Amino acid sequence: MHQEDGARDDFTCVFVNPVGQRRADFQHGCDGMFANLRVAAGAEQARGLLGREPADLLVLDLERCDLGVDLPALGALIGARAGAPVLVLCPFTNVRWLPALMAFGPLDYAIGPLRAQQIRALLAARMRAGFAIATASAPTPVETELRTLLSLRTACQQALDDADDGARFAARLCAALTGWPGVVHAALFQHRDGDLHLEGEHGADGLQLAALLEHEGRLLPSPQRHAFPGLLAATTGELTLVDALDALGDPALAARLEAFGARMVVGVPIPGQGPGGPMGSLCLLFGDTRPFSLAQLQALDDLAGLAAHGLRTAEVTRESEALLARVTHLASTDALTDLANRRHGETLLEQEIKRARRYRLPLALIAFDIDRFSHVNDTFGHPVGDLVLRTVADTARALLRASDVLVRSGGEEFQVIASHTSAIDALKMAEKLRAAIEQVEIPGCDHVTISLGVAQLGEGESGDSMAVRTHAALARAKRAGRNCIELAMS
Ligand code: GH3
Ligand code: MG
Ligand code: MG
Repeated sequence: MHQEDGARDDFTCVFVNPVGQRRADFQHGCDGMFANLRVAAGAEQARGLLGREPADLLVLDLERCDLGVDLPALGALIGARAGAPVLVLCPFTNVRWLPALMAFGPLDYAIGPLRAQQIRALLAARMRAGFAIATASAPTPVETELRTLLSLRTACQQALDDADDGARFAARLCAALTGWPGVVHAALFQHRDGDLHLEGEHGADGLQLAALLEHEGRLLPSPQRHAFPGLLAATTGELTLVDALDALGDPALAARLEAFGARMVVGVPIPGQGPGGPMGSLCLLFGDTRPFSLAQLQALDDLAGLAAHGLRTAEVTRESEALLARVTHLASTDALTDLANRRHGETLLEQEIKRARRYRLPLALIAFDIDRFSHVNDTFGHPVGDLVLRTVADTARALLRASDVLVRSGGEEFQVIASHTSAIDALKMAEKLRAAIEQVEIPGCDHVTISLGVAQLGEGESGDSMAVRTHAALARAKRAGRNCIELAMS
C-alpha cells in the first residue's frame, strides 16, 4: 500500500528520544506514515517494545540528548537489529557519536537539526529506497574505500616531511586531503597568538575561506563561529557536519560556498595536548552530500591526529630555532651595551681578515679606552659609570657605517673592526669618534674622553698580532696625555 508522498504505510517504527516534546512532535509530524508507530524515552524502553513486537524501522533521535546520552545502550539496540533498518537523527555538533554507534552495526543517518516536514520527507525517501544502509550500499566496495583511505593517509603522511614549517605543512596536507573522494576544498585552521588562523587551504580556485568568514580581519570573533563546521570544530573540539548549507544560517555565505561547488561542510577537530582545547581543525568542503562510513569517520579522526603531530613538530621546531637564536645572541653579545662581546669580536675579526685577503681590500682595527674611568666610578658611582659605558657605545655606534663592527672588548675598552678601510681612513674615523665622545653630554657626570690606537692589517698578519699592535698604540696615546690617537707601527 502506497501513500501520495510515496511512503509505505505498512511499515512499523519505534522512535527513541528522551524528551517528551520530541516524541510528540515526531508522532504528529509522521502522522499516518506508519501502520504502527511506538515511541520510547530511552534504550531500555525501546528494547522492551522491540522485544514484544519487532519493528521495520528503528529511529534513534539524538537531538537534545547532550546530557547523558547512553551510547553503549543505544549501540546494543543497533547490534540487536542484525542489519534491519536503523535511522539515526544526529545533531551537527555531535557527529562524533556516529562512529561510536556505527561500531555496533550498520546504520543510516541524517544530520540535524531537521524540521518535522524534513524528517517526514526523509523517511518517505528512505522508505521508497527500501532503507538501504549507507555502509552496505556504498557505491564502492569496502576494499576500494579502504584502499582510497590508505593512499590518502600515505599522501597526508608525506606532508610531515614539511613539518618543520607550519604553513608549508598545512598547505601540503590540504592538497593531500583534496584527494578524499568528493572533497572540493580542504583547509586547516590553527589557534595561534590569541586568534584562529587559516594556516593553509587547497582546492577550489579563488576560494579564500578566511576572507569569507573573518570579522574585522579576525576569525575567532566571526559570527560564523557557532555554525561553520571548520570554526566550530576548532573551538569546541567536536566533529561537526553540515550537509545542507542553508543550515549555516547565513544565506550569503551559503551562496558563495555553493558557487565554489560546495554542498556539505565537515569540521574535524585537531586534538590539542593536555586539558586545553583543540589545536585547530581540518575543514573539508564536499561537492555533494554523502554519508560517511565508520571507516571514513575513523580515517578523519586519524588524519586530524596526523595534523596535530605535524603542527606540534612545526611548533617545536619554531621554538627551538627561537631558543637557539636567543642563546646565540646571549653568547655573543654584551648585556650592558648590546655590542658584540670580546669572544664574538675575535671571531668577526678573523672573518674580516679572511675576506680582506680574498678580495685584497684594506682592513683597519681601532681600539679605544675611556680615560680615567675609575675616577668616573669613584666620583659618580657605578650606575653612572654604566650609563657612561652605554652612552659611549651608543655615540660610537651612531657614527659608524653599517659594515663596521663595534665590539666591547673589555671593561671600558672598545674596538672597531673597519672593513674596506686603510690606516689613513681609520685615523679620520678615530678622530671623529674622539671628537664626538668629548662633546657628548652625560646626565649626572662630567664629559669623558677616550684614547685611541689605530692599525691597518699587515701582509700575512694574524688577528692576534693586529690586536697587540693596536693595543700598544692605544697605550702610547695614554702616555701621550690621553684624549688623542696613535697609529700602530707596522
Ligand atoms: P686610563 O685613563 O688609564 O684608562 O684609566 P682608567 O681609570 O680608565 O683605567 P683602569 O683600567 O684603571 O680602570 C678601568 C675601570 O673600569 C675599573 C673598573 O672598575 C671599571 N669598569 C670596568 N667595567 C665596568 C662596568 O661594566 N661598569 C662600570 N661602572 N665600571 C666598569
Ligand atoms: Mg680607561
Ligand atoms: Mg682600560
